[in-house]
Amino acid sequence: MHLNQIYLRDFRNYKELSLSFAPGVNLLIGDNAQGKTNLLEAIGYLGSGKSFRTQKGSELVALGAEFCQIEGEVYAQERAQSIKWTVFSGHNPRRLYRNGVKKRSAGDIRGVLQTVLFCPEDLTVLKGGGSGRRKLADQSLCQLRPNYEAALTEYNRILEQKSKILKDRYENPALLDILPEYNQRLCQVGALIISYRARFFEALGKAAAEYHQSFTNGKEQFALHYKTVSTVEDPFAPVSVLTQDLNDHLKSHYRAELESGLCLTGPHKDDFDIELNGLSVKSFGSQGQTRTATISIKLAQRILMGRETGELPVLLLDDVLSELDASRQDFILHQIKEGQVFITCCEPGKFTSLGKTITISGGQIIE
Ligand code: ATP
Ligand code: MG
Repeated sequence: MHLNQIYLRDFRNYKELSLSFAPGVNLLIGDNAQGKTNLLEAIGYLGSGKSFRTQKGSELVALGAEFCQIEGEVYAQERAQSIKWTVFSGHNPRRLYRNGVKKRSAGDIRGVLQTVLFCPEDLTVLKGGGSGRRKLADQSLCQLRPNYEAALTEYNRILEQKSKILKDRYENPALLDILPEYNQRLCQVGALIISYRARFFEALGKAAAEYHQSFTNGKEQFALHYKTVSTVEDPFAPVSVLTQDLNDHLKSHYRAELESGLCLTGPHKDDFDIELNGLSVKSFGSQGQTRTATISIKLAQRILMGRETGELPVLLLDDVLSELDASRQDFILHQIKEGQVFITCCEPGKFTSLGKTITISGGQIIE
């Protein structure tokens, strides 16, 4: 799949823009605050109806305008297709058209223009706390496996109810009687989640390791380790075995949970660790290494999604080139040969031999 053309009207700092793209690499060059990230945001929104920067649609509308338009010509599912969004600054609901026909929700354009984004905020994922890493994995897995999404939703719902029972244990001790039922279901659904994650992390780690190898000319060995509940010896074991493992862990933490009033055991605490040449990125990775490892993971996510749907999602890389040395920059600009890629960058003089260079200034394209 690729985006052939975009048309923007009153979108952020773009008054009016009509621009065509290469099916390969598109390098967006410009000084700070000229509209590079805004353009990536428009492309992401076009395909998903979601902005990676804001929940408020009104923020997308140029200051002073009543509505904005984001329109694109996409080649996907072996044919040309168009998507058009109109988003209002006031309370009017947004409008969506696919091939000129009005649609009700973003679900109606699912799979037409899928994107995978890397942005500077992603750099905190490998260095920061576990919740960011779980979110990254869950987002990907939910897109790949609808059954996983259903299991995760159920797990989170039970977990919330269990948390409430534990929190109110002194005011409402009678509720503790139903705790075993919640625990049993948590173990069953939790086991399913671990089973999905084990397979996902294995595939993700393998694909990311290949990218990372090429990125570093074979100098850095990338390894991803999935970390789950300590009683789980083999996350690939049958779900019935995993359920028993989780049960064992729960039993040994029963008193601690009652004392602390917290849900201490289960895959909601899962995490993963990346090692480069045997050293944890979280503790020892340099900025460039962390950036490279994060990009490798994003490229791997994209490949996994592509394998599933048969079409490689469009890659949006915001500000990846800074802090990378020349050979890692070269890999991004010249070696990502598959599918369509958008890369923003502040340095003039950068070019790509695989596509198109576009210079942006003040919400306009400089020819
Ligand atoms: P950098 O290199 O610093 O990341 P950039 O080219 O990515 O810069 P953008 O984030 O795309 O810059 O933002 C460009 C400008 O768009 C900003 O100056 C911002 O004030 C402006 N802008 C954002 N939202 C709106 C809006 N709704 N209306 C008008 N202008 C806006
Ligand atoms: Mg930017």
